[in-house]
Amino acid sequence: MKIMKNKKGLIMGVANERSIAWGIAKKLSEEGAELAFSYQNEGFKKRLIPLMESINAKKCYECDVSTDINDESSIEKLFEKISKDWKEIDFVVHALAYSDKEELKGKYVDCSRENFLNSLDISAFSFTRTAKSSFPLMVSKGGSLLTLSYLGAERTTPNYNVMGVAKSALEASIKYLAMDLGKSNIRVNGLSAGPVKTLAGAAISGARHVYRYSENVAPLKFNPELQEISNSALYLLSNLSSGVTGNIHHVDGGLHSVAIPRSNDLE
Ligand code: NAD
Repeated sequence: MKIMKNKKGLIMGVANERSIAWGIAKKLSEEGAELAFSYQNEGFKKRLIPLMESINAKKCYECDVSTDINDESSIEKLFEKISKDWKEIDFVVHALAYSDKEELKGKYVDCSRENFLNSLDISAFSFTRTAKSSFPLMVSKGGSLLTLSYLGAERTTPNYNVMGVAKSALEASIKYLAMDLGKSNIRVNGLSAGPVKTLAGAAISGARHVYRYSENVAPLKFNPELQEISNSALYLLSNLSSGVTGNIHHVDGGLHSVAIPRSNDLE
């Protein structure tokens, strides 16, 4: 029995076949879920369509989640469009983030106000607005919302800078949203993934050092592949985790549990 059979959901954040969102989408599809996708702009759509075809998915919608003074409703509009196609959904995967590459190096203290606001808007506020806008489609039978975070939310990692602050806001949002939506049986969780070689991952200066350090120091001695992240996502999006909400689940080979690495792990 496929565990996502008869479940429908939205995947936000596929840029290409290496995207975490795509790894999760493939897994959910294998387990019987029916999927719709949102993409940032036409450029991303071109890469998304062949991937969608490979799993026989039909629905996709444009949505740049960033807000500005004139339009803070792109996410509401996205869910209005979805509600014309589907009366209900069971889950949403929010796997997107952005910060100016120029500020993912050097010191956090030099962060500009503009990039601070933009990074938190796209990487954190968009999840809160996604929860609000998807609510009418989930309220009748409950559902599961999942977002992606990183260890840099909890402790400093090199060059993560304002993205760490955005991920901290995202992780706090998970808990407040879990409280707000719990009585409607809508669960809200996060996956804190170890470093993965994606477009977003490559934007962080010195990513190679972080990648190598993480696999050396993690108890499992490897960084998670899309396969591992997707398996954990499947658990959090399916009924297997029906008692779990407000949780940030680490899929990082255990790296988060290490305070002081063994000296031979640093060689
Ligand atoms: P990716 O580059 O494949 O995906 C990032 C996505 O964000 C892209 O699809 C892009 O279109 C989308 N995006 C950026 N700005 C947007 C906007 N304004 N509107 C709509 N979409 C927008 O990278 P990824 O690594 O798969 O990132 C997915 C999530 O996983 C992010 O939240 C990232 O922070 C998180 N994460 C990544 C790693 C890693 O090492 N790669 C580790 C932990 C967490």
